[in-house]
Amino acid sequence: MELLKQKIIDEGKVLSDSVLKVDAFLNHQIDPVFMQEIGKEFAGRFANTGITKILTIESSGIAPATMTGLELGVPVIFARKRKSLTLTDHLYSAEVYSYTKKESNEISVSKDFIKSDDVVLIMDDFLANGQAALGLIGILKQAGARIAGVGIVIEKGFQNGSSLLKEQGIKVESLAIIDSLINGQVTFKEEVPSR
Ligand code: 5GP
Repeated sequence: MELLKQKIIDEGKVLSDSVLKVDAFLNHQIDPVFMQEIGKEFAGRFANTGITKILTIESSGIAPATMTGLELGVPVIFARKRKSLTLTDHLYSAEVYSYTKKESNEISVSKDFIKSDDVVLIMDDFLANGQAALGLIGILKQAGARIAGVGIVIEKGFQNGSSLLKEQGIKVESLAIIDSLINGQVTFKEEVPSR
């Protein structure tokens, strides 16, 4: 998605050879008009797949997932990273190791919101080693729901998340794929249309 690539070039900051900061439009400040375009792009890429719900993880997946839910006309659920007073049992849970925070979190989703007849699109802001996506897949497997695919705003193609998911036969749609962040320079991978 050219608009996203331009935004990354203009507003992204390369923190190291493996971490990109996009606090200006995705991870801290949110650009709603741009986010609406992201939602339209995902809705187009997953059109006619029978999606009934979108599942993401708090907090940075919520904005793109909500905009996609708006376009597809389906509810959006975000997995919570800590148990709250109102979310105590009746849960699907999975362990997720956070790439940026270098710590494990138990993520949970109430059993009320995902059923075995749901067709679910998993979404997140970044795809690195695939741990967040695999945790969400684990939750959908517990629920017996069908996985429509994984929608990612920014994939770091030099990490193995995408191959881990594709090995499981899961469709992955990333709006921008980064080939390298070496020397503070963002290099994108050429987009190959998915099967
Ligand atoms: P994974 O679970 O695929 O290893 O990592 C994805 C998660 O880690 C995303 O939810 C995202 O929040 C975070 N993440 C991974 N790499 C980056 C990065 O380069 N920049 C930012 N801002 N977040 C990242």
